[in-house]
Amino acid sequence: MLLCLVLISAIMLNPCSMLAGRVTLINSVLNALPIYLLSFFKIPQRIADRLVSLQRNFMWGGDLDQKKIPWVKWDNICLNKREGGLGIKNLVKFNAALMGRWIWELYSNQNQPWVRVLNSKYGGWSALQNGKVHCWDSHWWKDLRRLYQHNDFKIIHQNMAWKAGCGDKIRFWKDRWLGEESTLQQKYSQLFSISKQQNDFISTMGSFSQNIWRWDLKWRRHLFEHEEGVAVAFMEDITAYTLQNHLKDKLLWKADPSGLYSTRSAYRLLSSQNSTALDGINFQLVWKLKIPPKAAIFTWRLIKDRLPTRANLHRRNVELQDLTCPLCHSEQEEAGHLFFHCRYTVGLWWESLRWIQTFGALPSSPTSHFSLWCEGLVAGRNQNRWCGWWIALTSAIWKHRNLLIFQGIPFINSKVMDDALFLAWSWSKARVKGFNIPFNHWSSHLMEAFD
Ligand SMILES: [Zn+2]
Repeated sequence: MLLCLVLISAIMLNPCSMLAGRVTLINSVLNALPIYLLSFFKIPQRIADRLVSLQRNFMWGGDLDQKKIPWVKWDNICLNKREGGLGIKNLVKFNAALMGRWIWELYSNQNQPWVRVLNSKYGGWSALQNGKVHCWDSHWWKDLRRLYQHNDFKIIHQNMAWKAGCGDKIRFWKDRWLGEESTLQQKYSQLFSISKQQNDFISTMGSFSQNIWRWDLKWRRHLFEHEEGVAVAFMEDITAYTLQNHLKDKLLWKADPSGLYSTRSAYRLLSSQNSTALDGINFQLVWKLKIPPKAAIFTWRLIKDRLPTRANLHRRNVELQDLTCPLCHSEQEEAGHLFFHCRYTVGLWWESLRWIQTFGALPSSPTSHFSLWCEGLVAGRNQNRWCGWWIALTSAIWKHRNLLIFQGIPFINSKVMDDALFLAWSWSKARVKGFNIPFNHWSSHLMEAFD
């Protein structure tokens, strides 16, 4: 609830903050959340939904688009920037990653007093998987069990694996210790059903003789002939592993090179599930350019074709009388047309190509146009400046298109060009170390400006 209050007050204080600022605000508010609460209790779905809807409204609200339209799916916004998102934390997944630490501790620190208490009260972590629900279970324990059994959480236990030493902490059948996805119980269920040692630890299922481990497996009955093949494979599996008397059993967290659980790596794993983004675009490039965050977010929206062009507004059921391009009035205002192929804007790109002495057709979809410009035509050029130019020019086109629509100011190519040049120059001036070229000099030597 605290988050709601903080978010609401943030909205009240910043009614006009732009998208880039709002993204930063959402993340910083989340970081200021009482992490302790999120790492202790599972956030109820009802509250999580409410918070996400607040975050979403806040992000898309304000004066930019007049109407609060969620232009990009929330799941995609929560992807990291490399994958085409904005890196906003998904609350539910972050909560799960924080709580995962308890499960990790239950597994790996079985000697700690609090773990021993939980072991005797609830049956420890194995009870999370199979244990019954009791009326005396605390809320916290119920939350943990719910989380553990949740489908999305599977990837967390798949990344926890035992490395057996002397085998005194690992249950032979029920824990994963052979470096495989499944337990021996799952892999050899037929043999498990006739084992007399179903709950035993590895160390009690054999003994060391002169530092060599010998198995002593006990069965309820002799094997049938048809079971022999399975038994051979089973013996091969377990004898391939060397137990070591002097080493302790260790739980390893496979998602981090240190082998230790971290919220960050767990969150990354949880977020990588079901991620379908990756539009084949090098989004990382956009974020590493030396441009203001506002320009980066504008580019992100343009590449994803999520700017409020007339065609896009129409797709989102906004009633408009005129869907045509406000510049030429001869085609629908799709992003590809407005920015790259309209007769009022295409000349701006031709002129830019002349500076690098290149000619040829340019694609019309924002994605392919961006890829070709920033990656295909970049050879021998300064990518930061050349790709920055793409962003400066598209930003200026968008600004002048809005001036035309909302203030009736005519769209004049030469003005758009001047504005874009000044933008590109001012970004370099503000953000590139050692860039000291005066604007007049820079803009009259454009053939060299992108080298
Ligand atoms: Zn047009």
